[in-house]
Amino acid sequence: MPTKKPTVAKKIPTKKTTVKKVASPAKKASKKDDAGLPLSVVIRRRIEAQKARFHANDNISQFIQPGELEGLVDEVAEKMQAVLESLVIDTQNDHNTKNTSRRVAKMYVQEVFSGRYVEQPTLTKFPNVSRLNELMIIGPITVRSACSHHLCPIMGRIWIGVLPSKESALIGLSKYSRLTEWVMGRPQIQEEAVVELADMLERKIKPIGVAVVMDADHFCMQWRGVKDRDSKMINSVMRGAFLKDSNLRREFLALIDRK
Ligand SMILES: [Zn+2]
Repeated sequence: MPTKKPTVAKKIPTKKTTVKKVASPAKKASKKDDAGLPLSVVIRRRIEAQKARFHANDNISQFIQPGELEGLVDEVAEKMQAVLESLVIDTQNDHNTKNTSRRVAKMYVQEVFSGRYVEQPTLTKFPNVSRLNELMIIGPITVRSACSHHLCPIMGRIWIGVLPSKESALIGLSKYSRLTEWVMGRPQIQEEAVVELADMLERKIKPIGVAVVMDADHFCMQWRGVKDRDSKMINSVMRGAFLKDSNLRREFLALIDRK
């Protein structure tokens, strides 16, 4: 009997070990174990392998490979269709709901929760040459988010105060909006969202002080629950100089127009 030539497939294991060192978490997962699994499970395994957190307000973009978001939309649409069926909605004959499952899936993955799935917007930094110790206020920035308890919309505004130092790297004005949009584009709890934004600004800009004020309408208080149309939630985070210097804090709060 002629001896069989080794197949190409046998080369794969050695190749894999060399690739592993440089591969991103998204690429580390072995393909053969993933066969037949829902994409969400594949992504979840990559996250768990890195012992990373994947709460509703976490960004998991580093675990997602190019092109996979489309697959995630398909999976969410399929499960959303099952929700509509369980709600006893005739999606076959009710033309308004025929494509609702896909519309909702796209809205979640590509729009309102995209802050979970896409990378942080790139921030061009400028050295702080002229604005020494000058209070900067950015806002109001429109906030569109959703509560992680009911996935109900949270609509509001944010003001950011920055007291830069000589060493601070400033970011362009529009970048504050893009960064806010990125953080808020996830199911959130408002108290945690403002803290996360303040942390991020502190890390990026390294200012003497940073302040974030958010006021928002929570639709889970208006559309459902107590149905209180006028209830608003206001949160503020004061860091560094804004915490220590009551004059600076007063100046900031006086200058933002929350009407
Ligand atoms: Zn809620």
